[in-house]
Amino acid sequence: MNQNVEVVVVGGGYGGVTAANSLAQQKGVSVTVVNPRPDFVERIRLHQFVTGSDDAVEGFGRVMGRNVRLVVDTVTLIDAAKRQVALAQGGTISYDYLVYAVGSGASAPDVPGAAEFAHSISDLEGAERLRSALDEAPDSAPVTVIGAGPTGLETAAELAEAGRKVTLVCGTVLGPSLHPRVRRPVSRRLAKLGVTVLQGPRTRVTEVTRDSVRLDDGRELPSSVTIWTAGFSIPDLAARSGLRTNAEGRLVTDTTLTYVDDERIIAAGDAGVMPDHPFRLSCQAATQLGPAAAATILRRIAGKKATPVRMFFGGQCLSLGRKGGVTQFSYPNDKVNALSISGRTGAGVKEIACVFTLNKLVSGARKATSRAVRA
Ligand SMILES: Cc1cc2nc3c(=O)[nH]c(=O)nc-3n(C[C@H](O)[C@H](O)[C@H](O)COP(=O)(O)OP(=O)(O)OC[C@H]3O[C@@H](n4cnc5c(N)ncnc54)[C@H](O)[C@@H]3O)c2cc1C
Repeated sequence: MNQNVEVVVVGGGYGGVTAANSLAQQKGVSVTVVNPRPDFVERIRLHQFVTGSDDAVEGFGRVMGRNVRLVVDTVTLIDAAKRQVALAQGGTISYDYLVYAVGSGASAPDVPGAAEFAHSISDLEGAERLRSALDEAPDSAPVTVIGAGPTGLETAAELAEAGRKVTLVCGTVLGPSLHPRVRRPVSRRLAKLGVTVLQGPRTRVTEVTRDSVRLDDGRELPSSVTIWTAGFSIPDLAARSGLRTNAEGRLVTDTTLTYVDDERIIAAGDAGVMPDHPFRLSCQAATQLGPAAAATILRRIAGKKATPVRMFFGGQCLSLGRKGGVTQFSYPNDKVNALSISGRTGAGVKEIACVFTLNKLVSGARKATSRAVRA
């Protein structure tokens, strides 16, 4: 490669960082990551941040190669025709290739009062506000977690183990993504922690107020701190920039993660979608998609045809407090099966998965840095 190729990665989460580290191992490629915060956020530990069992933050110096330039800012617009991005603090950065890795964030529930009174745990700032609200509320104050997907289950258990009085409102069923047989150990663990679980067709939330949550069946639950965990939303940067997105706002790509209308834009992580091969919004997918996005760019730079991404899933791990958890196994296509590990071993597997994920970033950073030293 004779000429230097400039790659801008928008978003320094799991997808963006793994893409940046893979790209930065290639001589002749300069990588800039734009991210609003100066530190990497381990989103998969944000429920632990809330109770203080982990700070969920790592310095980018540890997880990203030293030859990757970090710009602490927010991209406000992608100008695909000019191949440049505009920054919130002013100025632009030009690129030869762009990795779109803006991830996901808090959902915007259309239930009255939810946006105003319910907390979110899906990004660091939301988790910080939630932690302050919990600090102000006495331990005996009722806490309501709305949504019983993985984030809701983990949050409810973590708070209950920390001594909080928690009600988990499922809407329909507890753990919709869990295999029916795996729901049993999850329910047992929540019961042991003292979590009140409300499930069934009429447990949908119809209103949130400052100090209560109203359900479809007319019940009104007192709630000093309410946490909304049902669903994530996708940042609107692509849509705002006139790029083609699906109904959720995810950038539409082909199976090589290339944006369908411009081969210079490649997606990695939650913010992209391959319509014929949907994948779960997850860190598990993002850490596979980042290196795959880099591979697509490197093949294209080398004049080769990009190849379809191949993903492999082994299971889903849930922490249910620090002393319990459930690891549910899946087929490689992410479809769950009835096999699971629960109890302390389940919690141990989840912890190993978190440590393994971080180590993957750290080792990618080392490889990128050693390339920089050699070059
Ligand atoms: C509490 C919790 C627990 C979770 N547990 C698990 C789990 O156990 N297993 C699992 O697989 N998944 C889990 N997830 C989901 C997982 O965290 C996400 O799917 C994953 O973070 C997606 O990675 P990403 O790189 O696509 O996006 P993110 O990690 O969200 O990173 C995106 C980055 O882009 C930045 N950004 C956004 N807009 C801009 C912009 N305009 N300009 C510049 N930067 C921008 C964001 O600030 C962020 O830093 C959990 C999520 C939460 C909230």
